[in-house]
Amino acid sequence: MVVVMRPGTPAEEVAKMPERLIRAAQTEITVNLVQWADQALFTLSGDTSRLDLEVIAASPYVERALRIQQPYKLASRAFQPADTVIEISGCKIGGGHKAIIAGPCSVESAEQMIGLAGLVKSLGASLLRGGAYKPRTSPYSFQGLGEEGLKILAMAREATGLPIVTEAMGVETFDLVEEYADIIQIGARNMQNFFLLKRAGKSNKPILLKRGLSATLEEFLMAAEYIIAGGNSQVILCERGIRTFDNYTRNTLDISAVPAVKELSHLPIIVDPSHACGRWSMVEPLAKAAMAAGADGLIIEVHHQPERALCDGAQSLRPEKFGQLMASVRKIMAAM
Ligand code: PEP
Ligand code: MN
Repeated sequence: MVVVMRPGTPAEEVAKMPERLIRAAQTEITVNLVQWADQALFTLSGDTSRLDLEVIAASPYVERALRIQQPYKLASRAFQPADTVIEISGCKIGGGHKAIIAGPCSVESAEQMIGLAGLVKSLGASLLRGGAYKPRTSPYSFQGLGEEGLKILAMAREATGLPIVTEAMGVETFDLVEEYADIIQIGARNMQNFFLLKRAGKSNKPILLKRGLSATLEEFLMAAEYIIAGGNSQVILCERGIRTFDNYTRNTLDISAVPAVKELSHLPIIVDPSHACGRWSMVEPLAKAAMAAGADGLIIEVHHQPERALCDGAQSLRPEKFGQLMASVRKIMAAM
């Protein structure tokens, strides 16, 4: 159950609410206070069967009270029927607004990053990606430039005006990433790092939450719920391929996640075809499929010299191939 207080409810009235609800429930229920934009609301869990929605909604301070069947409440379409639209420096994602994020897997040098930023912008990207902290399978692989990478990203933003998307790998470096990033990415391997999700809930920056390698859609939406319940409703979901029995591609792009998330949630969902397939030649067809399925955008790896990339060269598009992808994605969007 969710109980939404009216905007401007005095703090002392908000503070009295949990006890009232627990008393009315006649049993131990958990009442959790969430700040949702300018409103306070409560999520209730446990046996709420004795609570009468009409009685609760009769309080002059309560805007609405509703029962939500799903375990994810604030992320659910039942809670908010309208699509969430997230705005970053004038660029919108969700509710019919599509955004293309492009750039290298990792920040390698100022020259590489600023050059690529200008190129992807001229080809139609509206946001720039690049990892300064890289989650690598091998401890011997390039781990990212760290803070220096963040500074380079800021230079690329300065040079092009493109907002930057970069990953926060842990709570320890979250503050630093938050200082530089316009959108903070939580990677697939960290989708259920609950301390990180709670920290993201305290941020005032949008969070790009990638689906875990083996996460069900319910687990994915529950991870988003952690961020929203922590006070940050600006969550963008990203389908990036999941583990299946097939290993021809790096992962298997779950296209069905796009319409499924659209049914279940109001949050925007974008698709990462690069990590889904791991092969540059398959990125464009998967990008087209994602947009045709209703994705709110794409995140694409682009590198000026993929054969020399320090990370994920095999799935990186050369800028001219990215230009071709943009042209065909535009055709799909126009057809729709
Ligand atoms: C990335 O976007 O660079 C990345 C590491 O993605 P994922 O977490 O989806 O593997
Ligand atoms: Mn990558």
